[in-house]
Amino acid sequence: MNSSAINHNDLYRFPWTLADNAISWLEPTSECNLKCDGCYRENVKGAHKSMDEMKGELDVFQAMRKSDCISIAGGDPLLYPDVIELVAEIKRRGWKPILNTNGKALTDDLLKDLKKAGLFGFTFHVDSGQGRPGKWQGMNEIELNDLRLHYATMVAQIGGIACSFNATIYQENLQYVPDMIKWAQDHIDIVQTMVFICFRHIVPDMPFKWMAGDKEVKRGDVLYHSDKNRIITIGSNELVAKAREEVDPDFLPSAYLNGTADPAAMKWLMTQRIGSKKRIHGYTGPKFAELAMSLYHLKTGRYLSYVSSDSSKHGRRAMLLFSFLDPHTRKALGKWFGSLLRNPLRLFERAYLQTIMFIQPVDFMANGDQSMCDGCPDITVYDGKLVWSCRMEELKDFGTFLNTVPVAAEEKAAEAGGGDTVSHKI
Ligand code: SF4
Repeated sequence: MNSSAINHNDLYRFPWTLADNAISWLEPTSECNLKCDGCYRENVKGAHKSMDEMKGELDVFQAMRKSDCISIAGGDPLLYPDVIELVAEIKRRGWKPILNTNGKALTDDLLKDLKKAGLFGFTFHVDSGQGRPGKWQGMNEIELNDLRLHYATMVAQIGGIACSFNATIYQENLQYVPDMIKWAQDHIDIVQTMVFICFRHIVPDMPFKWMAGDKEVKRGDVLYHSDKNRIITIGSNELVAKAREEVDPDFLPSAYLNGTADPAAMKWLMTQRIGSKKRIHGYTGPKFAELAMSLYHLKTGRYLSYVSSDSSKHGRRAMLLFSFLDPHTRKALGKWFGSLLRNPLRLFERAYLQTIMFIQPVDFMANGDQSMCDGCPDITVYDGKLVWSCRMEELKDFGTFLNTVPVAAEEKAAEAGGGDTVSHKI
């Protein structure tokens, strides 16, 4: 396999929809203790919703949307005064509560209380664009691996809670993606998922007008804008190419979500590998993803989101069970047997499952269409309705989602281009 672009038709398309999805997104607070580059939420001190409001939003999810987990985000949800009660409420209603946090406010005592309340997992946002103060200031992604390890170790020590990391990927830290994927293998026993989210913003050279209904909005009034041009075109294919060039030429994505205006865009692109700290046996293929998703839905009535820290330890069992139908998993199994023949002591080496997810948010098409994730897992509740969390600020500030209209000089090019992507945002 080489580093050439992958084709979405070769992968399993996640079956997620607006009404039946793996994930839903809940924001109890807009307050944060960091100011990350690329954040799409206005940071407002003390802007906590009440528990009654939270219960109301959970009621909306219950009425309108099946999901396996609720991602509790913000702002930073650890600053929410009722975070323990909220986690317990989500658990009580039968969802997996996942906390999406920068980790700064996490203490051992809070961790114990969250576990008692039924927390299923963490997704820690750690990257070099967060402006972390103190000893982490100015550190690159490799140096920040110490901070990642700090959180992963805290979670592993208490046990029974899944541990994921996400990072926003800009031109500036793109070079470190392979190192982060390698770091994740070094800690495959305690890190279940790595998520890489491509940076999007509205930048000056985008050839659009921004419209709230028939009223034009200044680009600078949209929260997620930059005053200078920045690279905002990094996508899943580029990240796969980097992983293949610098981590493993066999790096194999298995499942994706397309764009609403571009079926070939891999807005969410999942790769799942099986192995140990010392060696990766191989990658699960599209059939594995389809079987896992379908069997879980048959059993629970929901599509699978995160797997537990315990299930991720059963890489060997997964290889044995799924090899019959998935040739890529069969290949991994063969590689594992081969390594056993070379050294039978490896029978005592545990095989883990680990997920690497690439997320490519909104793409802007030449004709002004905004291509969103089709079957968006990060749908949240605003004013009693289900909306894209990454664009909620538009509703708050302008009362509607903004339309993008190509500016006159570009209209001809857009017609000639027939809907090619010209730029991206958010
Ligand atoms: S549409 Fe926006 S909120 Fe939904 S999954 Fe994509 S980036 Fe996330």
